[in-house]
Amino acid sequence: MSTIAPQLDPFALAKELSGKHFIDGAFRPAASGKTFPVVNPATGEQVAEAAYGEAADVDAAVAAAKKAQKEWAKRPARERGKLVAECGRVLDAHKEEIARLVALETGKALRTESRVEAGVLSDAFTFFGGLGGELKGETVPFNPTMLTMTVREPVGVVGAIIPWNVPLMLMALKIAPAMVAGNAVVVKSAEEAPLAVLRAIQLISTILPPGVINMLSGYGPECGAPLVAHPDVHKVTFTGSVETGKIVYKTAAEKLIPVTLELGGKSPMIVCGDADLDQALAGAIAGMRFTRQGQSCTAASRIFVHDSIHDVFVEKLKEKVNAMKMGDPLDESTDIGTIVSRQQMDRVQSYIALGKEAGGTAHVCSAMPTDAKLTKGLYVQPHIFTGVKNTDRIAKEEIFGPVCCIIRWTDYDDVIEQANDTEYGLAATIWTRDIKLAMDAVTRLEAGFVQVNQNLVVQPNLSYGGVKTSGLGKEATLEAMLEHFTHKKTIIINMK
Ligand code: ADP
Repeated sequence: MSTIAPQLDPFALAKELSGKHFIDGAFRPAASGKTFPVVNPATGEQVAEAAYGEAADVDAAVAAAKKAQKEWAKRPARERGKLVAECGRVLDAHKEEIARLVALETGKALRTESRVEAGVLSDAFTFFGGLGGELKGETVPFNPTMLTMTVREPVGVVGAIIPWNVPLMLMALKIAPAMVAGNAVVVKSAEEAPLAVLRAIQLISTILPPGVINMLSGYGPECGAPLVAHPDVHKVTFTGSVETGKIVYKTAAEKLIPVTLELGGKSPMIVCGDADLDQALAGAIAGMRFTRQGQSCTAASRIFVHDSIHDVFVEKLKEKVNAMKMGDPLDESTDIGTIVSRQQMDRVQSYIALGKEAGGTAHVCSAMPTDAKLTKGLYVQPHIFTGVKNTDRIAKEEIFGPVCCIIRWTDYDDVIEQANDTEYGLAATIWTRDIKLAMDAVTRLEAGFVQVNQNLVVQPNLSYGGVKTSGLGKEATLEAMLEHFTHKKTIIINMK
């Protein structure tokens, strides 16, 4: 178990973690000595600095990973798994401080979002830690005189690039399986959210051999790009925007290395006239991730509601969202925190303007916080748009903010067509009591994650990932660990 005492004051912890990468089992400043500010989006105040990662830091982290990987891969798979599961226990013991820290840097409300994420972080390590023994090969009936088999081998050094919206969970779903499979990892955190990830890595490094897990903070082009391009990185797993995903894919193609890409979404939620209204409303709130300010690639941001219940659905949804409290992310009574950054806030506001220009009606919900210390906070009230079309930009493009479109429908075939009329294919839901209709919809909806009458979030053991431009490859399962973090070697022994 870790010897590091929990630090429940996120401001003090942020200062402690200031200006550091984590390389080869120890904190290390950037090679250049440069840093960049980490800002509390609820107040606009700087809470820490992060090490400014560049190519020299990437070189150091990859070299440490390369060295450590060889010995790590020699350990029995179940032993690696046990250590990763032990990481889960350490993270669980520290989950409150991790939750507070991620709330501070991202603005996600502690009670409704950050604690939930810290829970999934440790759970993912526990889940993958139990899968060491599943790294099995096969015997092949090739020839009775030739014993033919396959074994699973690690790919080597994995580069894991993560975003800011659920940085801990998305990191865990990449690094835990990668390490159990015998790889060493270099994580590149998102510029907006480097601290909680760094703390998590410091904590698990009390369990793991030095160099097996390393972390760099920095900007995409200066730090992420050299990581993808590094000749000793043999696999990249990336979650972020479609634009950056394409850049990563191109670089990986030049090197001929495999990538996993989890990209954007504009997920449809189809509510039929016979749906359980209360269930569907709860599903819209959960699916739209209002408590996370809609900052989710699976956000149910296009809600198609049958004409017969459209008006009552809109009224009741407004009522429910109005009852949610916007406030200080660290305050226990807060349901909805802030947008992560000024840049993201500008983007969200530009889409709100586009929705109005398209003739939509914005139903603005919830109340802005009144606390004087939050006046510079990046708060955007939830906007529920009606009167927009599926073809309007507000309904077509990913916003990553608390903005959803409610679109009225009457014809079932037409609504399925509209739901699929998007470049994305991450998630979709249908809400109905008609089992035949539900079965038909789940086969026709073009998405990687389709649910009926519920809107669960990603979790270990549920295959997660998109089709179309939402990504390449699925994550979060045993199969994902085998497919993405190992390669098969065929061995033939001539017995004649
Ligand atoms: P978002 O819009 O959610 O910030 P990005 O795709 O820009 O999405 O960022 C996701 C992650 O990708 C972040 O860690 C970011 O620093 C990183 N990133 C951005 N540009 C590049 C790049 N050219 N190469 C590698 N990583 C990048």
